[in-house]
Amino acid sequence: MTAPDQAGPAPQATRADQAPRTVDLAIIGAGSGNSIPDERFDTTSIAIFEEGLFGGTCMNVGCIPTKMFVYAADIAAAARESAKYGVDARVEGVDWPAIVARVFGRIDPIEAGGREYRVERCDNVTVYTSHVVFDGRDDETGRYRLVTADGETVLATDVVVVAGARSDVPDVIAESGVPFHTNADVMRLPELPKRLAILGSGYIAAEFAHVFSALGTQVTVIARGPKLLRALDTDVADRFTDVASRQWDVRLDSPVSSAAQLADGSVRLEFAGGDAVEADALLVATGRTPNGDRLGLDSIGVALTDDGRVPVDAHGRTPARGVWALGDVSSPYQLKHVANHEQRVVQANLVKGWDADDLDSFDYRAVPAAVFTHPQIATVGLTEEQARDEGLDITVKVQNYGDVAYGWAMEDTDGICKVIAERGTGRIVGAHLLGAQASSIVQPLVQAMSFGLTAPEMARGQYWIHPALPEVLENALLGLEV
Ligand SMILES: Cc1cc2nc3c(=O)[nH]c(=O)nc-3n(C[C@H](O)[C@H](O)[C@H](O)COP(=O)(O)OP(=O)(O)OC[C@H]3O[C@@H](n4cnc5c(N)ncnc54)[C@H](O)[C@@H]3O)c2cc1C
Repeated sequence: MTAPDQAGPAPQATRADQAPRTVDLAIIGAGSGNSIPDERFDTTSIAIFEEGLFGGTCMNVGCIPTKMFVYAADIAAAARESAKYGVDARVEGVDWPAIVARVFGRIDPIEAGGREYRVERCDNVTVYTSHVVFDGRDDETGRYRLVTADGETVLATDVVVVAGARSDVPDVIAESGVPFHTNADVMRLPELPKRLAILGSGYIAAEFAHVFSALGTQVTVIARGPKLLRALDTDVADRFTDVASRQWDVRLDSPVSSAAQLADGSVRLEFAGGDAVEADALLVATGRTPNGDRLGLDSIGVALTDDGRVPVDAHGRTPARGVWALGDVSSPYQLKHVANHEQRVVQANLVKGWDADDLDSFDYRAVPAAVFTHPQIATVGLTEEQARDEGLDITVKVQNYGDVAYGWAMEDTDGICKVIAERGTGRIVGAHLLGAQASSIVQPLVQAMSFGLTAPEMARGQYWIHPALPEVLENALLGLEV
């Protein structure tokens, strides 16, 4: 079961009429899709379909607002941890409505501005503000027929599917009728809940656990399996599960068997093992399903991949000629920087044309990701297990943050930096960090992997500022037995 992810204000349809309109290019989704029409498309007639918020998930209900909350949470966490450095700081209170107002007081005008720009100032663009589906091809012209929930029909020569993904909601929650939140609305709660149950063990659960806990909510994280962030490298997932269990009430191996709302409005979740959790609010963060199943793609002969994505080749072309796809709806990575990269590739290829022999290609050689929880986590490339499964002869070094000067100054006892390289060549194949500033410290490794810098070259071919935290990276590289 799934729920719509973006509960935005009902937008106004603009310049849409009832007669079928013919366009050169249709774009389904105004998240990354809204970045496609630039000056190269000024003479292209374009239809943009967006049923939710302009700017999509990242800007409205994903990366950007979550990190604005994370920043506030980091400040509160630093104050709470200050005593160990001899600083007497306390969190006297948290003005949740002020935090919400700061975040959305900045984001909402950007959404409105982006919408207004396309609607009012782009003469070649028509914006349709409802759900759209494919309805086969026009008999006469062969163009793709796109039909909106408002009953409007658009015929398009090229279509880019940039329809994103939505929150999964397990049946046991959806069918119970208990009130729950997702990332789409939890950041706009009118007040900070006293107790929050978070269902899920992935990065969205980990980030919101940090946010709410640091701001004063009692957080319970409920995982179906034996660890949190289990898609990550084992050392990082194990370490994080341990650190998380010291910060929050973490329930592992706890599949929810039933859910009910109590008389006082709170929610009670019971687990298969007989245990239970009660909370004032429930956040569901159990994964995200690509939206390709709601686009009528079968009417144009496109079947989804086994894991529910719109199939594309390395250039963003689906099996239907003239239909392209990118971002969460089709990508193996549900990450904004990957969606942006794919958007640039498809944008260039639209200009070149479907059959061009110099089409741009997606590049997934060194895709990094970060989890802005507490402490931060960052990853790039293969996990140790993946590298071994691929049959690589590898050398692995796990360097403790606390063993380099800055980490020692921070009295860090949890942070680790794990680097994996190929023996013989010194090629860096993966890196996994848990600790302060991990999302920034990983970047030189992304650069090294992208440009083919080996571990020994990277370690000794440059200065490392002493005593800065990236020395943890330098030491990890030096510790590899290449
Ligand atoms: C809580 C959260 C935090 C995140 N944090 C990060 C992070 O820190 N870093 C990171 O890299 N990534 C992060 N992500 C992931 C990131 O937000 C996505 O990878 C990215 O937004 C995908 O962009 P997209 O353009 O593919 O899809 P979207 O931005 O989701 O855009 C798709 C748009 O299509 C519209 N749409 C869908 N179907 C239809 C239809 N049939 N008709 C009309 N309109 C339709 C939707 O309303 C939506 O606006 C986060 C995600 C979440 C949920």
